[in-house]
Amino acid sequence: MTDDLLSLFTNAAQVAADHRATVGARPVQPEIDRVALDNALGGVLPDAPTPPSEVIEQLVAGTAPGIMGTVGPRFFGFVTGGALPAASAADILAVGWDQCAYNEALSPAAAAVERAAGTWLKDLLHLPASASVGFVTGAQATNTVGLAIGRTKVLADAGWDVARDGLAGAPRVRIVASEERHATIDRSAKLLGLGTASIEPVAADANGAIDVARLREVLARDTTAPIIVSLQLGNVNTGACDDLRTAIPLAREHGAWVHVDGAFGLWAAASPRTAHLTDGVELADSWGTDAHKWLNVPYDSGLAFCRDPELHAATMSYSASYLTGSGAAADYVLGDLTAESSRRARGLAVWAALRELGRTGVADLVDQCCELARRMAGRLAAAGATIHNDVVLNQVLVSFRDLARTDAIIEQVQREGTCWVGGTTWRGRRLMRFSVSNADTTEHDIDVSADAILTAAREGTDHCS
Ligand SMILES: *Cc1c(COP(=O)(O)O)cnc(C)c1O
Repeated sequence: MTDDLLSLFTNAAQVAADHRATVGARPVQPEIDRVALDNALGGVLPDAPTPPSEVIEQLVAGTAPGIMGTVGPRFFGFVTGGALPAASAADILAVGWDQCAYNEALSPAAAAVERAAGTWLKDLLHLPASASVGFVTGAQATNTVGLAIGRTKVLADAGWDVARDGLAGAPRVRIVASEERHATIDRSAKLLGLGTASIEPVAADANGAIDVARLREVLARDTTAPIIVSLQLGNVNTGACDDLRTAIPLAREHGAWVHVDGAFGLWAAASPRTAHLTDGVELADSWGTDAHKWLNVPYDSGLAFCRDPELHAATMSYSASYLTGSGAAADYVLGDLTAESSRRARGLAVWAALRELGRTGVADLVDQCCELARRMAGRLAAAGATIHNDVVLNQVLVSFRDLARTDAIIEQVQREGTCWVGGTTWRGRRLMRFSVSNADTTEHDIDVSADAILTAAREGTDHCS
Protein backbone atom coordinates (compact mmCIF):
# COMPACT_ATOMS: atom_id res chain seq x y z
CA MET A 1 0.00 0.00 0.00
CA THR A 2 1.47 3.30 -1.07
CA ASP A 3 -0.69 5.46 1.17
CA ASP A 4 -0.44 5.67 4.87
CA LEU A 5 -3.76 4.42 6.28
CA LEU A 6 -3.45 6.48 9.43
CA SER A 7 -3.15 9.77 7.60
CA LEU A 8 -5.94 8.75 5.23
CA PHE A 9 -8.30 7.99 8.11
CA THR A 10 -7.15 11.01 10.08
CA ASN A 11 -7.75 13.31 7.14
CA ALA A 12 -11.23 11.91 6.59
CA ALA A 13 -12.04 12.34 10.29
CA GLN A 14 -10.64 15.87 10.15
CA VAL A 15 -12.92 16.78 7.24
CA ALA A 16 -15.94 15.34 9.07
CA ALA A 17 -15.06 17.11 12.32
CA ASP A 18 -14.51 20.41 10.47
CA HIS A 19 -17.95 20.03 8.94
CA ARG A 20 -19.49 19.50 12.40
CA ALA A 21 -17.60 22.44 13.85
CA THR A 22 -18.74 24.87 11.17
CA VAL A 23 -22.14 23.53 10.13
CA GLY A 24 -23.98 25.89 12.48
CA ALA A 25 -22.20 28.93 11.06
CA ARG A 26 -22.81 28.18 7.38
CA PRO A 27 -26.05 28.31 5.37
CA VAL A 28 -27.93 25.07 6.09
CA GLN A 29 -28.40 24.60 2.36
CA PRO A 30 -25.21 25.17 0.36
CA GLU A 31 -25.15 26.91 -3.01
CA ILE A 32 -26.32 23.74 -4.72
CA ASP A 33 -24.73 23.25 -8.13
CA ARG A 34 -25.88 20.00 -9.71
CA VAL A 35 -23.86 20.52 -12.87
CA ALA A 36 -20.68 21.07 -10.85
CA LEU A 37 -21.48 17.98 -8.77
CA ASP A 38 -21.95 15.82 -11.85
CA ASN A 39 -18.88 17.25 -13.55
CA ALA A 40 -16.69 16.64 -10.52
CA LEU A 41 -18.06 13.23 -9.59
CA GLY A 42 -19.27 11.75 -12.88
CA GLY A 43 -17.74 10.95 -16.23
CA VAL A 44 -16.13 7.76 -17.41
CA LEU A 45 -14.70 5.32 -14.87
CA PRO A 46 -10.92 5.79 -15.10
CA ASP A 47 -8.96 2.81 -16.39
CA ALA A 48 -6.05 3.29 -14.02
CA PRO A 49 -6.06 3.15 -10.22
CA THR A 50 -5.91 6.36 -8.17
CA PRO A 51 -4.00 6.67 -4.87
CA PRO A 52 -6.49 6.60 -1.94
CA SER A 53 -5.50 10.03 -0.62
CA GLU A 54 -6.20 11.53 -4.03
CA VAL A 55 -9.54 9.73 -4.22
CA ILE A 56 -10.63 11.25 -0.91
CA GLU A 57 -9.36 14.69 -1.94
CA GLN A 58 -11.45 14.48 -5.12
CA LEU A 59 -14.47 13.24 -3.19
CA VAL A 60 -14.30 16.03 -0.63
CA ALA A 61 -13.80 18.73 -3.27
CA GLY A 62 -16.41 17.32 -5.62
CA THR A 63 -19.21 16.88 -3.08
CA ALA A 64 -18.89 20.36 -1.51
CA PRO A 65 -21.76 21.97 -3.46
CA GLY A 66 -24.05 19.14 -2.35
CA ILE A 67 -23.39 18.63 1.36
CA MET A 68 -26.49 19.68 3.28
CA GLY A 69 -26.34 20.86 6.89
CA THR A 70 -28.76 18.16 8.00
CA VAL A 71 -26.58 17.35 11.00
CA GLY A 72 -26.63 21.00 12.11
CA PRO A 73 -28.82 22.68 14.71
CA ARG A 74 -31.19 24.50 12.32
CA PHE A 75 -32.25 21.73 9.98
CA PHE A 76 -35.96 21.23 10.70
CA GLY A 77 -36.99 19.28 7.60
CA PHE A 78 -38.41 15.73 7.60
CA VAL A 79 -37.58 14.05 10.93
CA THR A 80 -33.86 13.64 10.72
CA GLY A 81 -32.21 13.80 14.15
CA GLY A 82 -28.60 14.77 14.58
CA ALA A 83 -25.53 12.60 15.15
CA LEU A 84 -24.07 12.48 18.66
CA PRO A 85 -20.26 12.67 18.95
CA ALA A 86 -19.73 9.23 20.50
CA ALA A 87 -22.23 7.62 18.12
CA SER A 88 -20.49 9.16 15.12
CA ALA A 89 -17.06 8.05 16.32
CA ALA A 90 -18.39 4.55 17.03
CA ASP A 91 -19.70 4.35 13.47
CA ILE A 92 -16.25 5.34 12.21
CA LEU A 93 -14.88 2.41 14.21
CA ALA A 94 -17.53 0.03 12.88
CA VAL A 95 -16.33 0.90 9.39
CA GLY A 96 -12.64 0.97 10.31
CA TRP A 97 -12.82 -2.43 11.98
CA ASP A 98 -15.08 -3.64 9.18
CA GLN A 99 -17.03 -5.90 11.50
CA CYS A 100 -19.85 -7.99 10.05
CA ALA A 101 -22.76 -8.26 12.45
CA TYR A 102 -24.18 -11.47 11.05
CA ASN A 103 -23.26 -13.90 13.80
CA GLU A 104 -20.98 -14.64 16.72
CA ALA A 105 -18.29 -16.16 14.52
CA LEU A 106 -17.91 -13.01 12.45
CA SER A 107 -18.03 -10.55 15.34
CA PRO A 108 -18.47 -11.57 18.95
CA ALA A 109 -18.06 -7.89 19.80
CA ALA A 110 -20.94 -6.77 17.58
CA ALA A 111 -23.12 -9.47 19.12
CA ALA A 112 -22.29 -8.40 22.68
CA VAL A 113 -22.86 -4.74 21.87
CA GLU A 114 -26.26 -5.49 20.33
CA ARG A 115 -27.25 -7.58 23.36
CA ALA A 116 -26.26 -4.78 25.74
CA ALA A 117 -27.84 -1.97 23.72
CA GLY A 118 -30.96 -4.06 23.10
CA THR A 119 -31.42 -4.60 26.84
CA TRP A 120 -31.02 -0.88 27.56
CA LEU A 121 -33.42 0.04 24.77
CA LYS A 122 -36.20 -2.25 25.96
CA ASP A 123 -35.87 -0.82 29.45
CA LEU A 124 -35.82 2.77 28.21
CA LEU A 125 -38.74 2.34 25.80
CA HIS A 126 -40.93 0.29 28.19
CA LEU A 127 -40.91 -2.83 26.03
CA PRO A 128 -40.95 -6.41 27.40
CA ALA A 129 -37.49 -7.45 28.62
CA SER A 130 -37.85 -10.77 26.79
CA ALA A 131 -38.41 -9.15 23.37
CA SER A 132 -35.97 -9.69 20.49
CA VAL A 133 -34.25 -6.77 18.73
CA GLY A 134 -33.10 -6.70 15.14
CA PHE A 135 -30.69 -3.91 14.15
CA VAL A 136 -32.03 -2.97 10.72
CA THR A 137 -31.59 -0.08 8.29
CA GLY A 138 -34.49 2.15 9.37
CA ALA A 139 -38.17 2.35 10.19
CA GLN A 140 -39.13 1.14 6.72
CA ALA A 141 -37.32 -2.08 7.54
CA THR A 142 -38.82 -2.26 11.05
CA ASN A 143 -42.30 -2.02 9.53
CA THR A 144 -41.46 -4.73 7.01
CA VAL A 145 -40.08 -7.00 9.74
CA GLY A 146 -43.03 -6.35 12.08
CA LEU A 147 -45.64 -6.95 9.39
CA ALA A 148 -43.77 -10.02 8.13
CA ILE A 149 -43.84 -11.60 11.59
CA GLY A 150 -47.50 -10.63 11.93
CA ARG A 151 -48.23 -12.23 8.56
CA THR A 152 -46.54 -15.46 9.69
CA LYS A 153 -48.52 -15.51 12.94
CA VAL A 154 -52.02 -14.64 11.79
CA LEU A 155 -51.78 -17.03 8.85
CA ALA A 156 -50.44 -19.79 11.12
CA ASP A 157 -53.43 -19.19 13.37
CA ALA A 158 -55.59 -19.70 10.27
CA GLY A 159 -53.80 -22.99 9.53
CA TRP A 160 -51.53 -21.64 6.78
CA ASP A 161 -47.72 -21.90 6.62
CA VAL A 162 -46.75 -18.82 4.64
CA ALA A 163 -43.01 -19.48 4.86
CA ARG A 164 -43.46 -22.78 3.06
CA ASP A 165 -46.52 -22.23 0.91
CA GLY A 166 -46.39 -18.53 0.10
CA LEU A 167 -49.48 -16.42 -0.28
CA ALA A 168 -51.11 -18.01 -3.32
CA GLY A 169 -54.29 -19.65 -2.01
CA ALA A 170 -53.76 -18.28 1.52
CA PRO A 171 -56.59 -16.63 3.44
CA ARG A 172 -56.63 -12.90 2.72
CA VAL A 173 -54.92 -10.92 5.49
CA ARG A 174 -56.54 -7.64 6.51
CA ILE A 175 -54.19 -4.81 7.50
CA VAL A 176 -56.12 -2.37 9.65
CA ALA A 177 -54.29 0.94 10.02
CA SER A 178 -55.02 4.61 10.46
CA GLU A 179 -55.62 6.80 7.43
CA GLU A 180 -52.74 8.74 9.00
CA ARG A 181 -50.30 5.80 8.91
CA HIS A 182 -46.84 6.47 7.50
CA ALA A 183 -46.53 5.61 3.79
CA THR A 184 -43.85 3.03 4.60
CA ILE A 185 -46.62 0.75 5.90
CA ASP A 186 -48.01 0.69 2.37
CA ARG A 187 -44.60 -0.12 0.92
CA SER A 188 -44.18 -2.96 3.42
CA ALA A 189 -47.59 -4.31 2.38
CA LYS A 190 -46.43 -4.18 -1.24
CA LEU A 191 -43.12 -5.90 -0.54
CA LEU A 192 -44.72 -8.64 1.56
CA GLY A 193 -47.22 -9.57 -1.15
CA LEU A 194 -50.15 -8.53 1.02
CA GLY A 195 -50.87 -5.65 -1.31
CA THR A 196 -51.95 -2.13 -0.52
CA ALA A 197 -55.58 -3.12 -1.21
CA SER A 198 -55.43 -5.22 1.95
CA ILE A 199 -55.05 -2.02 4.00
CA GLU A 200 -58.31 -0.90 5.55
CA PRO A 201 -57.91 2.70 6.63
CA VAL A 202 -59.39 3.93 9.89
CA ALA A 203 -60.33 7.59 10.31
CA ALA A 204 -58.12 9.73 12.54
CA ASP A 205 -58.99 12.46 15.02
CA ALA A 206 -58.27 16.17 14.56
CA ASN A 207 -54.60 15.81 15.48
CA GLY A 208 -54.03 12.67 13.42
CA ALA A 209 -54.27 9.91 16.04
CA ILE A 210 -56.42 6.88 15.22
CA ASP A 211 -60.12 7.24 16.09
CA VAL A 212 -60.61 4.26 18.38
CA ALA A 213 -64.40 4.11 17.93
CA ARG A 214 -63.87 3.85 14.18
CA LEU A 215 -61.18 1.22 14.74
CA ARG A 216 -63.77 -0.87 16.57
CA GLU A 217 -66.17 -0.54 13.60
CA VAL A 218 -63.56 -1.42 10.99
CA LEU A 219 -62.38 -4.45 12.97
CA ALA A 220 -65.96 -5.72 13.27
CA ARG A 221 -66.53 -5.65 9.49
CA ASP A 222 -65.13 -9.14 9.16
CA THR A 223 -64.67 -11.34 12.19
CA THR A 224 -63.17 -14.35 10.42
CA ALA A 225 -60.23 -13.04 8.33
CA PRO A 226 -56.72 -12.86 9.84
CA ILE A 227 -55.87 -9.31 10.89
CA ILE A 228 -52.74 -7.25 11.42
CA VAL A 229 -53.39 -3.94 13.18
CA SER A 230 -50.70 -1.32 12.60
CA LEU A 231 -50.69 1.54 15.09
CA GLN A 232 -48.47 4.59 15.29
CA LEU A 233 -46.55 6.66 17.81
CA GLY A 234 -45.60 9.98 16.26
CA ASN A 235 -47.60 11.18 13.29
CA VAL A 236 -45.04 12.46 10.81
CA ASN A 237 -46.93 15.75 10.44
CA THR A 238 -48.37 16.46 13.88
CA GLY A 239 -46.51 14.15 16.28
CA ALA A 240 -49.85 12.68 17.43
CA CYS A 241 -49.72 9.26 19.10
CA ASP A 242 -52.41 6.59 18.87
CA ASP A 243 -54.16 5.63 22.10
CA LEU A 244 -52.52 2.25 22.47
CA ARG A 245 -54.04 1.49 25.88
CA THR A 246 -57.51 1.43 24.29
CA ALA A 247 -56.71 0.34 20.74
CA ILE A 248 -54.57 -2.73 21.46
CA PRO A 249 -57.14 -4.62 23.59
CA LEU A 250 -59.72 -4.02 20.81
CA ALA A 251 -57.35 -5.56 18.28
CA ARG A 252 -56.74 -8.48 20.66
CA GLU A 253 -60.45 -9.27 20.77
CA HIS A 254 -60.11 -10.08 17.07
CA GLY A 255 -56.97 -12.14 17.49
CA ALA A 256 -54.98 -9.54 15.57
CA TRP A 257 -51.23 -9.09 15.49
CA VAL A 258 -50.44 -5.57 16.69
CA HIS A 259 -47.51 -3.66 15.23
CA VAL A 260 -46.47 -0.20 16.41
CA ASP A 261 -44.63 2.15 14.04
CA GLY A 262 -42.81 4.41 16.48
CA ALA A 263 -40.11 5.69 14.14
CA PHE A 264 -39.60 8.78 16.28
CA GLY A 265 -42.61 8.76 18.65
CA LEU A 266 -41.51 5.66 20.55
CA TRP A 267 -38.71 7.76 22.05
CA ALA A 268 -41.38 9.68 23.95
CA ALA A 269 -41.49 6.64 26.24
CA ALA A 270 -37.98 7.52 27.45
CA SER A 271 -39.06 10.75 29.14
CA PRO A 272 -41.32 10.89 32.21
CA ARG A 273 -42.84 14.06 30.71
CA THR A 274 -43.99 12.43 27.47
CA ALA A 275 -44.27 8.75 28.42
CA HIS A 276 -48.05 9.10 28.85
CA LEU A 277 -48.30 9.45 25.06
CA THR A 278 -47.00 5.89 24.73
CA ASP A 279 -49.13 4.41 27.50
CA GLY A 280 -49.98 0.78 26.72
CA VAL A 281 -47.05 0.35 24.32
CA GLU A 282 -45.92 -2.82 26.08
CA LEU A 283 -49.17 -4.55 25.00
CA ALA A 284 -48.22 -4.75 21.30
CA ASP A 285 -46.51 -7.64 19.49
CA SER A 286 -43.93 -5.85 17.36
CA TRP A 287 -42.45 -2.38 17.45
CA GLY A 288 -40.19 -0.34 15.23
CA THR A 289 -38.18 2.78 15.86
CA ASP A 290 -35.30 4.69 14.35
CA ALA A 291 -32.08 5.27 16.25
CA HIS A 292 -31.07 7.62 13.42
CA LYS A 293 -33.96 9.92 14.23
CA TRP A 294 -34.48 10.93 17.84
CA LEU A 295 -31.58 9.02 19.40
CA ASN A 296 -29.26 11.05 17.13
CA VAL A 297 -27.30 8.11 15.75
CA PRO A 298 -25.89 8.46 12.19
CA TYR A 299 -27.85 6.85 9.34
CA ASP A 300 -28.77 4.00 8.84
CA SER A 301 -30.06 2.61 12.07
CA GLY A 302 -33.48 1.15 12.82
CA LEU A 303 -34.61 -1.18 15.61
CA ALA A 304 -37.14 -3.97 15.04
CA PHE A 305 -38.49 -5.43 18.29
CA CYS A 306 -40.73 -8.46 18.70
CA ARG A 307 -42.53 -9.93 21.72
CA ASP A 308 -41.86 -13.45 20.44
CA PRO A 309 -38.15 -14.00 19.63
CA GLU A 310 -38.76 -17.50 18.23
CA LEU A 311 -41.37 -16.25 15.81
CA HIS A 312 -39.17 -13.27 14.90
CA ALA A 313 -36.27 -15.58 14.03
CA ALA A 314 -38.50 -18.14 12.34
CA THR A 315 -39.90 -15.44 10.07
CA MET A 316 -36.68 -13.66 9.14
CA SER A 317 -34.03 -16.40 9.16
CA TYR A 318 -32.79 -18.88 6.60
CA SER A 319 -30.49 -21.82 7.08
CA ALA A 320 -27.53 -22.92 5.05
CA SER A 321 -25.11 -25.80 5.46
CA TYR A 322 -22.06 -23.56 5.83
CA LEU A 323 -23.65 -21.86 8.85
CA THR A 324 -23.81 -24.97 11.00
CA GLY A 325 -21.63 -24.60 14.06
CA SER A 326 -20.95 -20.95 13.36
CA GLY A 327 -21.05 -20.12 17.03
CA ALA A 328 -24.52 -18.87 17.88
CA ALA A 329 -24.82 -18.09 21.58
CA ALA A 330 -28.60 -18.22 21.50
CA ASP A 331 -30.84 -20.37 19.34
CA TYR A 332 -30.76 -17.66 16.74
CA VAL A 333 -28.05 -15.34 15.44
CA LEU A 334 -28.15 -11.59 14.82
CA GLY A 335 -28.81 -12.03 11.13
CA ASP A 336 -31.89 -14.14 11.92
CA LEU A 337 -33.69 -11.00 13.07
CA THR A 338 -33.04 -8.79 10.03
CA ALA A 339 -33.49 -9.06 6.27
CA GLU A 340 -29.74 -8.67 5.76
CA SER A 341 -27.07 -11.27 6.48
CA SER A 342 -23.87 -9.29 6.03
CA ARG A 343 -24.19 -5.86 7.53
CA ARG A 344 -22.16 -3.17 9.27
CA ALA A 345 -22.02 -3.47 13.07
CA ARG A 346 -24.77 -0.87 13.53
CA GLY A 347 -25.12 -1.64 17.19
CA LEU A 348 -21.85 0.09 18.02
CA ALA A 349 -23.26 3.56 17.36
CA VAL A 350 -26.49 2.79 19.20
CA TRP A 351 -24.52 1.51 22.19
CA ALA A 352 -22.35 4.62 22.13
CA ALA A 353 -25.31 7.02 21.90
CA LEU A 354 -27.05 5.38 24.86
CA ARG A 355 -23.85 5.39 26.85
CA GLU A 356 -23.11 9.02 25.99
CA LEU A 357 -26.56 10.23 27.02
CA GLY A 358 -27.48 7.85 29.80
CA ARG A 359 -31.09 7.41 30.86
CA THR A 360 -31.59 11.04 31.88
CA GLY A 361 -29.77 12.28 28.78
CA VAL A 362 -32.22 10.51 26.45
CA ALA A 363 -35.15 11.95 28.44
CA ASP A 364 -33.57 15.41 28.33
CA LEU A 365 -33.06 15.15 24.57
CA VAL A 366 -36.74 14.33 24.05
CA ASP A 367 -37.89 17.07 26.46
CA GLN A 368 -35.59 19.68 24.96
CA CYS A 369 -36.81 19.04 21.42
CA CYS A 370 -40.46 19.20 22.52
CA GLU A 371 -39.81 22.41 24.44
CA LEU A 372 -38.08 23.98 21.44
CA ALA A 373 -40.91 22.93 19.12
CA ARG A 374 -43.36 24.71 21.44
CA ARG A 375 -41.07 27.74 21.46
CA MET A 376 -41.05 27.85 17.66
CA ALA A 377 -44.83 27.52 17.55
CA GLY A 378 -45.19 30.25 20.16
CA ARG A 379 -42.93 32.74 18.39
CA LEU A 380 -44.56 32.23 15.01
CA ALA A 381 -48.08 32.39 16.47
CA ALA A 382 -47.22 35.59 18.34
CA ALA A 383 -46.29 37.15 14.97
CA GLY A 384 -49.64 36.19 13.46
CA ALA A 385 -48.91 32.78 11.92
CA THR A 386 -51.42 29.95 12.35
CA ILE A 387 -50.38 26.71 14.06
CA HIS A 388 -52.40 23.81 12.66
CA ASN A 389 -51.59 21.03 15.12
CA ASP A 390 -51.64 20.39 18.79
CA VAL A 391 -47.88 20.43 19.49
CA VAL A 392 -47.84 17.29 21.64
CA LEU A 393 -44.30 16.32 20.64
CA ASN A 394 -41.61 17.81 18.39
CA GLN A 395 -43.62 18.54 15.23
CA VAL A 396 -45.17 21.87 14.24
CA LEU A 397 -47.41 22.73 11.26
CA VAL A 398 -47.63 26.40 10.27
CA SER A 399 -49.26 28.64 7.74
CA PHE A 400 -48.96 32.36 7.10
CA ARG A 401 -51.49 34.97 6.10
CA ASP A 402 -51.24 34.15 2.41
CA LEU A 403 -51.99 30.42 2.35
CA ALA A 404 -51.36 30.16 -1.39
CA ARG A 405 -47.75 31.21 -0.90
CA THR A 406 -46.70 28.53 1.61
CA ASP A 407 -44.45 26.72 -0.86
CA ALA A 408 -42.89 29.97 -2.07
CA ILE A 409 -42.12 30.99 1.53
CA ILE A 410 -40.58 27.58 2.24
CA GLU A 411 -38.38 27.88 -0.83
CA GLN A 412 -37.33 31.38 0.18
CA VAL A 413 -36.40 30.14 3.68
CA GLN A 414 -34.35 27.28 2.20
CA ARG A 415 -32.54 29.63 -0.17
CA GLU A 416 -31.82 32.21 2.53
CA GLY A 417 -30.01 29.51 4.53
CA THR A 418 -30.51 30.39 8.20
CA CYS A 419 -32.58 27.25 8.62
CA TRP A 420 -34.20 24.56 6.52
CA VAL A 421 -37.88 23.67 6.69
CA GLY A 422 -40.02 21.50 4.48
CA GLY A 423 -43.61 21.53 3.36
CA THR A 424 -46.45 19.08 3.72
CA THR A 425 -50.11 18.67 2.94
CA TRP A 426 -52.28 18.33 6.02
CA ARG A 427 -56.06 18.13 5.84
CA GLY A 428 -55.98 19.49 2.32
CA ARG A 429 -53.75 22.48 3.05
CA ARG A 430 -50.15 23.14 2.06
CA LEU A 431 -48.28 23.92 5.27
CA MET A 432 -44.77 24.49 6.53
CA ARG A 433 -43.60 21.59 8.68
CA PHE A 434 -40.99 21.67 11.45
CA SER A 435 -39.39 18.82 13.22
CA VAL A 436 -37.05 19.53 16.12
CA SER A 437 -35.04 16.36 16.66
CA ASN A 438 -31.39 17.37 17.04
CA ALA A 439 -29.60 17.49 20.42
CA ASP A 440 -27.57 20.49 19.19
CA THR A 441 -30.55 22.81 18.64
CA THR A 442 -30.75 25.68 21.13
CA GLU A 443 -33.26 28.40 21.98
CA HIS A 444 -31.10 30.81 20.00
CA ASP A 445 -31.35 28.55 16.94
CA ILE A 446 -35.14 28.60 17.26
CA ASP A 447 -35.24 32.37 17.66
CA VAL A 448 -33.03 33.24 14.69
CA SER A 449 -34.87 30.66 12.58
CA ALA A 450 -38.27 32.08 13.53
CA ASP A 451 -37.01 35.55 12.57
CA ALA A 452 -35.76 34.31 9.21
CA ILE A 453 -39.09 32.58 8.50
CA LEU A 454 -41.14 35.62 9.47
CA THR A 455 -38.96 37.82 7.25
CA ALA A 456 -39.49 35.45 4.31
CA ALA A 457 -43.24 35.42 4.94
CA ARG A 458 -43.37 39.25 5.09
CA GLU A 459 -41.21 39.77 2.01
CA GLY A 460 -43.45 37.53 -0.01
CA THR A 461 -46.55 39.41 1.07
CA ASP A 462 -44.97 42.78 0.22
CA HIS A 463 -44.00 41.65 -3.27
CA CYS A 464 -47.45 40.31 -3.94
CA SER A 465 -49.39 43.31 -2.70
C1 LIG B 1 -39.47 8.40 9.29
C2 LIG B 1 -40.62 7.49 9.49
C3 LIG B 1 -40.67 6.23 8.84
C4 LIG B 1 -39.61 5.79 7.86
O1 LIG B 1 -38.37 5.78 8.45
P1 LIG B 1 -37.03 5.45 7.64
O2 LIG B 1 -36.02 5.42 8.71
O3 LIG B 1 -36.85 6.58 6.67
O4 LIG B 1 -37.21 4.14 6.95
C5 LIG B 1 -41.73 5.40 9.14
N1 LIG B 1 -42.70 5.78 9.98
C6 LIG B 1 -42.71 6.98 10.59
C7 LIG B 1 -43.83 7.33 11.52
C8 LIG B 1 -41.66 7.87 10.37
O5 LIG B 1 -41.64 9.06 10.97
